[in-house]
Amino acid sequence: KLHNELQELKGNIRVYCRIRPFLAGQKEKQTIVEYVGENGELIIVNPSKQGKEGRRSFKFNKVYGQAATQAEVYLDTQPLIQSVLDGYNVCIFAYGQTGSGKTYTMTGPDRVSEEEWGVNYRALNDLFRISQNRESTFSYEISVQMVEIYNEQVRDLLSSDGLLNCVITIIFCFFLDLHTLGILSGSQPNGLAVPDASMYPVKATSDVLHLMNVGLKNRAKSSTALNERSSRSHSIVSIHVRGIDQKTGSSMQSSLHLVDLAGSERVDRSEVTGDRLKEAQHINKSLSALGDVISALAQKSPHVPYRNSKLTQVLQSSLGGNAKTLMFVQLNPEVNSHSESMSTLKFAERVS
Ligand code: ADP
Ligand code: MG
Repeated sequence: KLHNELQELKGNIRVYCRIRPFLAGQKEKQTIVEYVGENGELIIVNPSKQGKEGRRSFKFNKVYGQAATQAEVYLDTQPLIQSVLDGYNVCIFAYGQTGSGKTYTMTGPDRVSEEEWGVNYRALNDLFRISQNRESTFSYEISVQMVEIYNEQVRDLLSSDGLLNCVITIIFCFFLDLHTLGILSGSQPNGLAVPDASMYPVKATSDVLHLMNVGLKNRAKSSTALNERSSRSHSIVSIHVRGIDQKTGSSMQSSLHLVDLAGSERVDRSEVTGDRLKEAQHINKSLSALGDVISALAQKSPHVPYRNSKLTQVLQSSLGGNAKTLMFVQLNPEVNSHSESMSTLKFAERVS
């Protein structure tokens, strides 16, 4: 209780920093992480600079060292999931350079086992569990959208475009719930960030696992053409909750957005041209627009610049106001990532 009250006082923006471990096959190398404190303190060293100059400390709401498990990380995320059922809009972001563990934190590794489930599966599991609590007089409907933002354009990852997709979707809908087809053909539920992206009602985590696979396949399709496109687009899983109190008839509505951001790495302008440069500029623009929005909210500024990117426009209704925001700031511990990690941490500092 007290913990909750403290969180409220601190405002609605939280920043958690997570350092990914060295990967299998990588020798335990020198690292830039000197200290990870229980209180959210972090000390980063630049091995090429001696003494004070090469050290810098940061403070966030939490810092997770390399040994932190998915379950531990989720434990601190869980209160926000309860908030969704209490009617709050929540956004959870993963920010960091490509390879720093954004997708691992949000979704899990490629072949995900339950133990390695990331925040999105665990969050949905909890939403279903809490919403099915028999003691509550509320009954809830939960539905899911999945979009990607690439070069400032929103793409529906669950759309039924194309014959194959259509067949997959229809088969899927058949197993899920026939009503889905009605929703597919364009009814527009309220409070939608992306009104025309397909939306599917879900009843259990397994439904969501299937949907996410459809979404991931759709996403993968374009990445053969545009090599590793996934690291250059933002992916958003949006979960919409509608609750009706069976006793009083009153209703609530809220959303949870889980956002795996495009890689934040700087691109050397002298080395890229054409499409790659355009991509880099779009990413840059949208990540700094996101930073501007969150830091304006953190400072309670009267003007919040939502209009500067697609990402912030799409999420506008879930950023600010009563909404709660959690940013996972992901770090690569390797020495040769020192300067990228520093710019990631400076971004994080600005929004916290
Ligand atoms: P990003 O999405 O930021 O590009 P990934 O999530 O794909 O990064 O992580 C890069 C690699 O590191 C992947 O192989 C991933 O499984 C692994 N990885 C990242 N974080 C962890 C972690 N906390 N524990 C184990 N492996 C991790
Ligand atoms: Mg990724």
